[in-house]
Amino acid sequence: MEYEVIVGLETHAHLLTESKMFCGCSTKFGSPPNTQTCPVCQGLPGVLPVINRKAFEHGLKAALALHCEIAPVTQFDRKNYYYPDLPKNYQISQNYNNLGVNGWIDVEVEGSTRRVGIWNTHLEEDAGKLEHPEDTGAEYTTVDLNRTGTPLLEVVSAPDMRSAAEAGAYMSELASMLRYLEVSDCKMEEGSLRFEASISVRPRGSDTLGNRVEVKNLNSMSSVVRAVEYEAKRQGEVLESGGTVPSETMLWDVARGVTQPMRSKEEAKDYRYFPEPDLVPIEITPEWLERVQADMPELPAERRRRFVSDYGLPQYDAAVLVESKAVGNYFEHCVEAGAGPKAASNWVMGEVLRELKARRGEPDELAVTPPMLSELIGLVTSGQLSNNIAKEVFVEMAATGKKAPAVVEAKGLRQISDTSELEATVRAVLEANRPAVADLNAGKKKAKGFLIGQVMRATQGKANPKVVGSLIDALAGC
Ligand SMILES: [Zn+2]
Repeated sequence: MEYEVIVGLETHAHLLTESKMFCGCSTKFGSPPNTQTCPVCQGLPGVLPVINRKAFEHGLKAALALHCEIAPVTQFDRKNYYYPDLPKNYQISQNYNNLGVNGWIDVEVEGSTRRVGIWNTHLEEDAGKLEHPEDTGAEYTTVDLNRTGTPLLEVVSAPDMRSAAEAGAYMSELASMLRYLEVSDCKMEEGSLRFEASISVRPRGSDTLGNRVEVKNLNSMSSVVRAVEYEAKRQGEVLESGGTVPSETMLWDVARGVTQPMRSKEEAKDYRYFPEPDLVPIEITPEWLERVQADMPELPAERRRRFVSDYGLPQYDAAVLVESKAVGNYFEHCVEAGAGPKAASNWVMGEVLRELKARRGEPDELAVTPPMLSELIGLVTSGQLSNNIAKEVFVEMAATGKKAPAVVEAKGLRQISDTSELEATVRAVLEANRPAVADLNAGKKKAKGFLIGQVMRATQGKANPKVVGSLIDALAGC
């Protein structure tokens, strides 16, 4: 039988704020343990939380971008559980009146658009972090409360994804959207973006959902994709052999590439939610919503459409350029500086992204600014540089910060398009390759490519191949 996999994702994103959700402590990542805490986030008796307005508005922006219905009145609730990284023994979250519900996001998967429903999006605070000593024989664990109380956005998707690729596309689109909104940096390596997957399998064509397996400990998007692939196969095999898949929570073992059942005592979910008595409900007035809406930037989906309609770029180019806001900006600045859109797109997708990857840098740190790249592209378009030589020039520009004409001058790289300069070389090549000339005159087109290649080699790639081609046509018959 054929099976299909059903995936829903829960996403937690740290909101980009200077201070925590309910106190004034810094949210800076990587500080020494327990240096960013206060009585509020340590959960000492008698303290009172105060809502971080910026975090709340970040949440509103995300909910609007996800096309959610915004609650006219929202509130926080206590989610009670005991864990050493949670000093209050409850987490302030939202359960009864979520900030946003019933939204959606469109994701591009292999050239087609798929709409994924968003069940709800809400605000909460993060827990601290347990540090287990490297010595596995150690009889203690330490706790770092710097992260305790960091503002979190939770986005719960509907189980609308049908493959690992769709889950991958959803995660990239959501992360890209949150970065465009500047509400989260989505750095998975710093734990600012985390996913949990619920995965089930059913016979293709069936409309009932199978038992769900929840997978935790997914530390990268590729882990999510691999876990979905693994669970789809594992659950399919269980069903195929006549068994049933138990509903359970599992952990992804990244080293072994398998899911492992979690000990069941950690699964007990009786959170005894009740409204947070220390915080009043928040009324979201239409005026407030309007103000937040007016402050929303262009989002990736809109920008992709604009890149296709305004610049005439293929969908593929638009998707690659738009994924990062800064890369999209770099491309647009190249075009503003005069480069043709398709040429600029090719350069940004090729050399610029390669350079950024090698340097692990951001576009605004590149020594080659958009006007400099535009000037280089101009030299190619006007025939003064071949594409290959221009790539060499780009590497030198990126290393030294020099402008294209200076590099071309210093290295003597200008393309030779002057027939009088090339004629002697072409004649010499024809002389030295009589058999190829005979082949060419006998109508074998391959011979021409070979002869052009010889001239390119003799001029260290500087000859303009078009000019060389017509010279060969003119001189080979002699
Ligand atoms: Zn604090």
